Amino acid sequence: LADKMKIVPSVIVKKLFMQGKIVTVNQEIDYDTAEEIALEFDVLCEKEEVVDVIEELLKEEEEDEKKMKKRPPVVCVMGHVDHGKTSLLDAIRHTNVIDREAGGITQHIGASVVTVNGEKITFLDTPGHEAFTAMRMRGANSTDIAILVVAADDGVMPQTVEAINHAKAAGIEIVVAINKIDKPSANIDRVKQELSEYELIPEDWGGSTIFVPVSAKTGEGIQDLMEMLLLTAEVSELKANPNRRARGLVIEAQLDKGKGPVATVLVQKGTLRIGDAIAAGSAYGKVRAMMDDKGRRVKEAGPSTPVEILGLNDVPNAGEVFVGCKNDKDARSFAETFISQNKAKLLEDTKGKLSLDDLFTQIKEGNLKELNIVVKADVQGSVEAIKQSLLKLSNEEVVVKIIHGGVGAINESDVSLASASNAIIIGFNVRPDATAKETAEREGVDVRLYRVIYNAIEDVQAAMKGMLDPVF
Ligand code: GDP
Repeated sequence: LADKMKIVPSVIVKKLFMQGKIVTVNQEIDYDTAEEIALEFDVLCEKEEVVDVIEELLKEEEEDEKKMKKRPPVVCVMGHVDHGKTSLLDAIRHTNVIDREAGGITQHIGASVVTVNGEKITFLDTPGHEAFTAMRMRGANSTDIAILVVAADDGVMPQTVEAINHAKAAGIEIVVAINKIDKPSANIDRVKQELSEYELIPEDWGGSTIFVPVSAKTGEGIQDLMEMLLLTAEVSELKANPNRRARGLVIEAQLDKGKGPVATVLVQKGTLRIGDAIAAGSAYGKVRAMMDDKGRRVKEAGPSTPVEILGLNDVPNAGEVFVGCKNDKDARSFAETFISQNKAKLLEDTKGKLSLDDLFTQIKEGNLKELNIVVKADVQGSVEAIKQSLLKLSNEEVVVKIIHGGVGAINESDVSLASASNAIIIGFNVRPDATAKETAEREGVDVRLYRVIYNAIEDVQAAMKGMLDPVF
C-alpha cells in the first residue's frame, strides 16, 4: 500500500498505531483499512507536516536578540489560605485608577493589567500555586514573579512552604509581601526570621530577597510592592519578540450562551490580532473579537497581555498552549493533530517520568545530574531525619535535592510539584489521599511509601549507585 501511495511505510504504521492498531511493515491489512488510509492520505500528509510544526513550536526557538523588546512581567500570588491573597489582588486592582475611568467594574477575565509609574504589570487572577503548577505540568511556564503572601499575625504555615517550593522548583523570582500589618498582633520580624529558614533572607539582613510589608485592608505598602515588582522585572530583563505570530497560554475558558466559546489567553510572544487564525489545544478558529481586562475592545495584543477572545470552535483547557497559524486550514489541522497526538504524547510523557527503578537507564540516556525528591512524613522530626540522610547521599556526580518536605498525607499539590519537576515522592508513615493517588497514576509519578526510614534511604542509595557515571 505504501508503495502504491508513494509514501514511506512508517507513516501508515504510525497512523494505525494512533488508532490503537499495532501492525508491522510486512503485515497485510484488510481492504477497508487500506481504503480508509488511502482516502485520508491527503489529510495525513498535512498532519505529518503539522507535527513537525508543533515540534518546532514547542521547542524554545532561538530568537534574534535584536528583535527582542522589553515586555511586562507576569506575576502570580501565592501563600497560605486566609493570608490575604485574594484581598491583595483586589487591593492591587483598586489602586489602578484606569479601572474606574473605563466605567467602573473590572471585567473578570482571569488576569489583569495594572499600570504603575507608566509601566505595566500583568497579574494572574487565580491565587495559589495549584493553577500555576498545573500549567507547569503541561510544560508551560506562565509566570515570571511570584508574590509570596505571608500574614504578619500568623507567620509561615504549611502552604507557605509549599508555595516557596513550587516557585523555587519553577525557578521564578519570589517577592515577599508581609500582609495584615494593620493588625495589632502583626510581627514583621517573626515572618522574616521564619522565612530565612527557607533561604528567603531580607536585604536588610544581608540577603537578596525583597520583603514588602503591606496591608491589603488599608492599602498601605501596595504602591511599594508594585515598584519592587517592577524593579525585579527590570533586573530579570524580560523580553519577547512582538513581531511574529502570536503564541501563549490559555488562562481560562468557558462556554458562553450568547457568545459561544470564550477564552482568556496570555500572549507570551508575538502579537495577536483580530482576524488571526489560531489553534488552542484541540480548539481552533479565527479571532473574531478581543477584549482586554477592562472590558474594552482591542484590535491587537502583544507580549504579556491577557485578552479574552471570541471565535474558537470549542472550549480549550486552561493551561493549553495557543499558537497563531498561517491560515484557517493550518489552525484546523493543528488542532486535529493535537487531538490525535495527545494520547501518544501523554504516554510518552508518562514514560519519561522519573522512577527509582529505571533511574540508571534514565541517567545513561539523559545524563540526569539531579535527583529531585518530595518528602512527606507523619511528624516533622521524621521529615528532617529523612531529608538530612538523603541530602548526604549527594556526591560529585549526582546531587540529591529535596524540593519539598512536609507533614501530612501526600496531596495533589505534592504530586503536581513532583510531576512538573520530574521528582519522586517518598512517604514515611503517610499515604497519598484519593486525588493524589489518581493524579500520580495519571501523571506517572513514582510514589514510594515506607515505614522504616532506613529502607527509604537504602532504596535511594541503591538507585543512585546505578547513577554514577563510570570513572575512567
Ligand atoms: P486568601 O485565602 O489568601 O485569598 O485570603 P483572603 O484574601 O480571603 O483573606 C482572608 C481574610 O483575611 C479575610 O477575612 C480578609 O478580610 C482578611 N484580610 C486580608 N488582608 C488583610 C489585611 O491586610 N488586614 C486585615 N486586618 N485583614 C486582612
